[in-house]
Amino acid sequence: MVADTISSEAWHAHLDTLFERQRQHQYEVARTTARERKAKLRALYDALLRNRTAIQEAMWADLRKPALEVDITEISTTTGEIRYALRHLSRWMSPHRVGIRLSLIGSSAWVHYEPKGVCLILAPWNYPFNLSLIPLVSAVAAGNCVILKPSEHAPHSAHLIKAIVEECFPPQEAAVVEGDVEVAQALLKLPFDHIFFTGSPAVGKIVMAAAAEHLSSLTLELGGKSPAIVDETADLERAASRIAGLKAMNAGQICISPDYVLVHESIQEALIERLEHYFKQYYGATPEARQQSPDYPRLIHDRHFAFVTGLLNNAVGLGATVRFGGHAIAQERYLEPTILTHVPEGAAIWEAEIFGPLLPIRPYRTLTEAIDYINARPKPLALYIFSRKRERWQQVLHETRSGGVCINECGLQFFNPNLPFGGQNHSGMGRYHGQWGFQEFSHARAVTRQSNLWTSTRLLAPPYRTAFMRRIVDWVIRWL
Ligand code: NAD
Repeated sequence: MVADTISSEAWHAHLDTLFERQRQHQYEVARTTARERKAKLRALYDALLRNRTAIQEAMWADLRKPALEVDITEISTTTGEIRYALRHLSRWMSPHRVGIRLSLIGSSAWVHYEPKGVCLILAPWNYPFNLSLIPLVSAVAAGNCVILKPSEHAPHSAHLIKAIVEECFPPQEAAVVEGDVEVAQALLKLPFDHIFFTGSPAVGKIVMAAAAEHLSSLTLELGGKSPAIVDETADLERAASRIAGLKAMNAGQICISPDYVLVHESIQEALIERLEHYFKQYYGATPEARQQSPDYPRLIHDRHFAFVTGLLNNAVGLGATVRFGGHAIAQERYLEPTILTHVPEGAAIWEAEIFGPLLPIRPYRTLTEAIDYINARPKPLALYIFSRKRERWQQVLHETRSGGVCINECGLQFFNPNLPFGGQNHSGMGRYHGQWGFQEFSHARAVTRQSNLWTSTRLLAPPYRTAFMRRIVDWVIRWL
């Protein structure tokens, strides 16, 4: 469904006009100085602070997300990204001088980061502000024009994101388009210079096919099944408190949430006991208290509720044991944090990304067995390892692949703007945050300048028959 009041044709025409305006305006935006771009980022920063309560209210309406969590995961992540860009943008924008080979003597060379042009950002619903606005910060810092489409499944947030962006940018520079799949598909028909998509791997494939049509460059920030390994030397309090924390936060609807746990068989029972302890400590000692906790969100929509409870029912139907939780109320889209053991092979929960508060636990005997299990599946976005032994986490680092790794914690890799954030293959391609985001939205243009006094290529002009030239080429091949 596109915008309620206007026809599909009118809507397409509106998008075409908006895109064309941005295309015509892009060189003006590209010419902006670091100082001018910083002023835009500061305006966005101020608008976020001004709208802090409105953001909290929108997130409560969309997901029943607690205000403090909104402050930390939506607002401070974005204001932090802006502050970081303000500190470093001048350096990122300045030409990066590079060396030359001896055979190119007389020339100088540098890399000039220029904006890609007109960019599309497609965002998901689970962290609507953070996942729309952090890419916007990178795109604006790099000097691009942007059309941003937030998710239709968090409509209060999408509405507010539009209002905030309209407060800060003229539409020919940055515009927000609200709408659903049909609007996303209409946008994907346009020849954007870069597409930045955050969402599921299934839709990522559709976006990639659309990008191929125009050979648009592409960032895919996708999801997947992120494992947490807990070995027998791990600090159990730390492991249980962090895994329970990130599994239940946002009711598990986090791309870097630990999807499942691989635990050494000797400590499985102890870990489960501590996980139960922390779920109770965070949300309440009884099922009723947990249901009423103001700190525990709901699943986003009925279809997602049916999907996640379907995973639970499928596992239980195949013989899995519910060790904790399992309580669900469809009218509220409430699903309690739930621990599952003895989930048989072939259960759907081992295949699909859960994106909800279910935590299946799988024991292993040797670390190699756990590593083989991970490597038999698509590369995850995050990988967590809890161990006191350095050689264990080094083995995991060397023998597995994932977008990011976090040792003895959960989720920290997202919050450090010095680190690239992104996946590999099924969990995505490309990266952002900090300078990585600036570069993702820039083209690294190679520039080289030849001195007027001398150019080595003169020595290599045809005819190629002299022994002297052969000698020079011989030197170049061997030494220069
Ligand atoms: P989604 O893929 O359903 O939707 C994301 C965006 O794509 C939305 O704006 C939506 O309108 C649009 N879209 C949906 N279907 C489309 C189609 N057929 N054609 C074109 N556009 C379409 O994802 P979601 O349900 O909003 O979010 C959940 C997924 O996102 C999970 O897989 C999660 O792991 C992933 N995710 C990844 C990150 C990350 O940073 N890597 C962050 C959050 C969520």
